[in-house]
Amino acid sequence: MDTCITTSIFDIFKTGPGPSSSHTIGPMRAALLFRDAMVRLSPDRQDPLELNVHLFGSLSHTGKGHGTHKAILGGLLGWEPETCDCDLLCQLLEDPEQLYDIPFNHGQIPFSARHIHFEGNSAQDLPFSNTLRFKLSTRNKLLLEKEYYSIGGGFILCKGEIEKERNTPPHAYRNMNQLRKIIRKTGLPLSQIILQNEQAITGAAQDQIHEGLDRIIGAMCACVEKGLLADGLLPGPIGLLRKAKVLMTNSHKMKQETGRFLAILNAYAMAASEENAAGQRVVTAPTSGSAGVMPGVIYLLKHQYHLSPEQLRQGILAAAAIAFIAKRNASISGAEVGCQGEVGVASSMAAAFMTYALEGPMKKVENAAEIALEHQLGMTCDPVGGYVQIPCIERNAVGAVTAVNAYILAEAGDPARQKVSFDEVVETMMETGQDMCSRYKETARGGLAVCCVSC
Ligand code: SF4
Repeated sequence: MDTCITTSIFDIFKTGPGPSSSHTIGPMRAALLFRDAMVRLSPDRQDPLELNVHLFGSLSHTGKGHGTHKAILGGLLGWEPETCDCDLLCQLLEDPEQLYDIPFNHGQIPFSARHIHFEGNSAQDLPFSNTLRFKLSTRNKLLLEKEYYSIGGGFILCKGEIEKERNTPPHAYRNMNQLRKIIRKTGLPLSQIILQNEQAITGAAQDQIHEGLDRIIGAMCACVEKGLLADGLLPGPIGLLRKAKVLMTNSHKMKQETGRFLAILNAYAMAASEENAAGQRVVTAPTSGSAGVMPGVIYLLKHQYHLSPEQLRQGILAAAAIAFIAKRNASISGAEVGCQGEVGVASSMAAAFMTYALEGPMKKVENAAEIALEHQLGMTCDPVGGYVQIPCIERNAVGAVTAVNAYILAEAGDPARQKVSFDEVVETMMETGQDMCSRYKETARGGLAVCCVSC
C-alpha cells in the first residue's frame, strides 16, 4: 500500500457501454483477456471444447440487470468497450437457447446462456466480491482456467498475475496531503502536476493528452445531448420512463431563475445517466453508474457559464486527481463501499472540476471535493431489481446538484479554517464501506432493492 499513484487520467475516464463499469465494461475486458489467453493454447482439435463462465458475489446477484452476461459474450466475440455496437450488445442472449460461435484456433466453440453460471452467494472466500472464473475444457480435461476481479470503474485484476509496473511519475504522491506539499514546493499549478505525471506514466506527449481530454469532454457532452432528445421507457422490467427531456422542456416554462437553473442541471445529469441505463456508450467518471454527474456539471459550465475548452481541460485534470486519491486510498466500487464510492466520488470530482475550472485556488478545490463527499458518506448501493435505474438515475442528478452546492459552500468558506480534510473524508468513506453490510453493496438484497416491491 506504499506505492504512489500511477493511475492514468484515461484509466478513470474511459468510454464503454452502460450500465455499469464493474458489471459491464470490467467483465467485457476480462472476457477479452481470456480470449487472448485462449489464443495462445493449441489443444488437440479432435476434442469438442466447452467454455463456462462462473460469476460470484455482486456480479452474480445483479449481473443480469447490469448486462454482465451480454458483456462477457461480447468480449468473447472480440468486441471492445470503446467501439462495440451498444444496440447489438443489448440484443445478445435475449433468446436463452441461441448458440453463438466463439472463434478459437480456426474453429469455433458453441456458447449460449447456459454456459454462464450465476453462482449466488458463494463468494465468501474470494478476495473481491466481483469475481469471474473462466474455464475452457474438453470432456475430460480442464485446459485453461482464469480468475478475474472487477474492482470498479472497469479496472480488472487477474489472480496470480502481477500488474505491469508503470513508470514512476516525477511528482510522486499517495494522498491529498502529499499532493498539496508538492504544489507548495514546486510552485506548479495542480494541472501541471497531473499533466507531467500523465506524460511520465503513459509516455504520451502533452498535445496527445489534450486531445484525449477534449475527446472525453466531447463524449460526455454528446451523451447529454443524446439523452436530452430521447424519451420513452428504459429497457428492463421496471418500466421506468425517461425524464430528462421533460425536465428540460419544463425548465423553459419556469418563471423563477433558481428553479430553472436546478431543472436544467438535473436534466443534463439525468440525460447522461438515462443513456447509461439504456446501455448506450458513456464515459466512466469514475464509474458508469455515476456517469451522469460529471457530464451534467461539465455541460452546465460549457453552455451556461460559457467556459473555454482550456478551462474545461483544467477542470478535468482536477477531477482526475480526486478520483486517483479516492481509488488509491478507498474504492470507487459500489460492490466494495456502496454508492458513496460511485456517486459520492463523482460528486466530489465534479465539485473539484467546477472550482478549478472557475480558477479557484487549490485549497478551495480540496474543500469543495471534501464537502461534496462528506455529505454522501454512508450512501448504500441498492439498485432495484439489479438495474442501474432506481435510485441511480435521480441520484446522479442529486450528485450534480450537490457538487455545485459544494462549490458554493467552499467559495464562501475560509480554506484555512476547514475542519475536515479530503484525506480524512476518503479514509472515513473506506471505513464506512468496510462496516457496511454486504446487502447494501450492489447485491440488490437490501434497502430500496427489496422495499420497492411494486417495481
Ligand atoms: S446505487 Fe449507486 S453504486 Fe449502486 S448501481 Fe446505482 S449508481 Fe451504482
